[in-house]
Amino acid sequence: MSKKIPVGVLGATGMVGQEFVSFLQDHPWFDLTWLGASDRSSGKKYHEATVWRLGGETPAFVRDIVVSDSVPKGAPKLVFSAMDASVATEIEQAFAAVGHIIVSNSRNHRMEADVPLLVPEANADHLDLLPAQAKRGWSGRIVTNPNCSTVVLVMALAPLKQFGIRKVIVTTMQAISGAGYPGVTSLDILGNVIPFIGGEEPKMESETQKILGAFAGSIIEPLDAKVSASCNRVPVVDGHTLCVSVEFEKKPSEHQIIAALNTFRGVPQQKNLPSAPVQPVVYMEQENRPQPRRDVERDHAMAVFVGRLRKCPVLDYKFVAMGHNTVRGAAGAAVLNAELMKAQGLL
Ligand code: NAP
Repeated sequence: MSKKIPVGVLGATGMVGQEFVSFLQDHPWFDLTWLGASDRSSGKKYHEATVWRLGGETPAFVRDIVVSDSVPKGAPKLVFSAMDASVATEIEQAFAAVGHIIVSNSRNHRMEADVPLLVPEANADHLDLLPAQAKRGWSGRIVTNPNCSTVVLVMALAPLKQFGIRKVIVTTMQAISGAGYPGVTSLDILGNVIPFIGGEEPKMESETQKILGAFAGSIIEPLDAKVSASCNRVPVVDGHTLCVSVEFEKKPSEHQIIAALNTFRGVPQQKNLPSAPVQPVVYMEQENRPQPRRDVERDHAMAVFVGRLRKCPVLDYKFVAMGHNTVRGAAGAAVLNAELMKAQGLL
């Protein structure tokens, strides 16, 4: 008998769902036993319902699992969600209402006042919002992870919060894998830059303020900093790269900033969670790094890489940050959230 915790994935047949399947293979704590999707897929074996779009074949451990309808009956208590946003609100709530813990990657509940929007290294204490969800009459709970570009920004800013972040201007160069499958057509993206990603800029701005905000009894007080985001799609397969300028209340030296980035550790590192990178933020001294092609897979794709720290003539400092959008920015982020919940006794 497996002593692991049985888990499920809603939206298991989609792009992010496949990332969950891949990330959960051989997980030391979680045993993926249940896969949910739409009625187009339910009743079929996973390998029949899915065109496997990651490397290799459909993993053997899930190949013959029969895909379930997206209803709570028969699902394990802990369920990751990678469902289409058009249906995630009702389905995630239906699961939470009857006692399931939904660890969601979808945007639907991220900004709700009683829902933790987690980057475990930055705001593990926001899990204290969870008891407030009982007021909805749910016996279960919903927690979320941020948008894939927000994770990279927040990981780079969290170590610098001690210096009093006042203003942030961020310009992204986002990988095409962030657009799902089939995503952006080749004739649109090859040799090109698309200076628009629908809904991305307001998400980056508000999610960053919530995550870096303070838990104040029963609510999150957003970080009192202005955040301005400009988001671009570029012909990179994996890895979102961000150019960031920051104004601080205190005026740290370059040395203090680099030391803060490299020595930053959070609850996942203290508790040695299975998916936690040993060093969550890595400052790269080389003048031309980080680069997505060279650096995105390092540290199991769960760390964020920062480089090119220099003075900014408009704000105080500017730098480059880069992280894996479908691992640290999606499936890996959600699994780390669930590991944090287990370590805090919340599963
Ligand atoms: P996708 O490939 O289109 O997959 C969507 C999944 O939802 C499929 O498993 C699909 O099942 C299921 N689904 C669709 N309609 C359904 C219904 N009526 N009932 C139950 N299940 C239904 O999408 P994706 O690219 O993986 O994205 C999934 C989610 O992750 C979205 O909410 C997206 O916004 C979010 N996302 C987040 C990030 C991030 O920032 N962290 C990055 C990328 C995506 P069938 O195969 O049976 O149709």
